[in-house]
Amino acid sequence: MDAPSTSAVAFPQAPLRFEPVLKRYLWGGRRLGELFAKPIGPENDYAESWELVDRDPEQSCVVAGPLVGKTLRELLRDYPQEMLGRHAPLPRFPLLVKLLDAAQLLSVQVHPNDAQAARTTPPDLGKTEVWHVLAAQPGSKLYAGLKPHVDRAYLEQALRTGQVEPCLHAIEPRVGDTIFIPPGTVHALGAGVVIAEFQQSSDVTLRLFDWNRVGADGKPRPLHIEAALSIIDYTFGPIQVLRSSLLPTLPLDSVATQELVVCEKFVLKRHTFRRHWSRPNDQRFRILMVIEGELRAANDPLDTLCTPGTTLLIPASIDEIELLTESTATVLECYLP
Ligand SMILES: [Zn+2]
Repeated sequence: MDAPSTSAVAFPQAPLRFEPVLKRYLWGGRRLGELFAKPIGPENDYAESWELVDRDPEQSCVVAGPLVGKTLRELLRDYPQEMLGRHAPLPRFPLLVKLLDAAQLLSVQVHPNDAQAARTTPPDLGKTEVWHVLAAQPGSKLYAGLKPHVDRAYLEQALRTGQVEPCLHAIEPRVGDTIFIPPGTVHALGAGVVIAEFQQSSDVTLRLFDWNRVGADGKPRPLHIEAALSIIDYTFGPIQVLRSSLLPTLPLDSVATQELVVCEKFVLKRHTFRRHWSRPNDQRFRILMVIEGELRAANDPLDTLCTPGTTLLIPASIDEIELLTESTATVLECYLP
């Protein structure tokens, strides 16, 4: 056995909480602060809160407990078994978890799969992603997939004339909707939508269309039309929404679970519970994000209420996960298959 590194401390049997990494982009707003108490400043363009990230240069840092200040990358390096269990070791954390506030319409994009992304410079992972809608203004839209008759030639013609919207499958989002975006899917977030996003930790985005807009400098933003056209999967057609039905009033101490996504990259579930939720862990890490209600997590080093937008990383070494609420709460749970 190697000697533990000098910085090693005993690994706590506790959930991990991290500092959010805020990103400002033109299309952002203020709802990351208003809805989720994220530490935004005075500006009006807070677009993304990266809740869990292990990429260069962005790193999630632990905010409380004996591992305070450690980055996610350092935790994977120093405590691979405690962090990852059956998935250890991994060179970096495989998932990226975000909250997004689309105050304005985003560009139309597509992401590559793993094989396609491996050929980019620098090589990266592909991006499979899923959206769970947390807020939606009336009349807001999401775009996911192409209409059934749209093939490459049709889309190329639409790009030439700037009339791309009629090609796109539009969704009127409701709170609780889940939209699964496999690689090769044309997609865009519309104005007024707030989502939680779980995805492979990848940064390869190919921009197909920017709604004929210009940037602050008066010029159109760069597009990657050829590359985007070549990785779109024209067989997908419209992407279907999974609509979380309103859950019935729950009896005391009961849990209602909905499986939102099961794919080869991750599993996403939604649990609504009254008073108490617990489950044995099975040697894997789990990500929990509170989306409704307030709760406490057993052994939480911050010992404050977890409110909507709070993200917890449950390390693989925790045997039992336990959440407590005085009323009803809903969490999203994400883990590797
Ligand atoms: Zn995307």
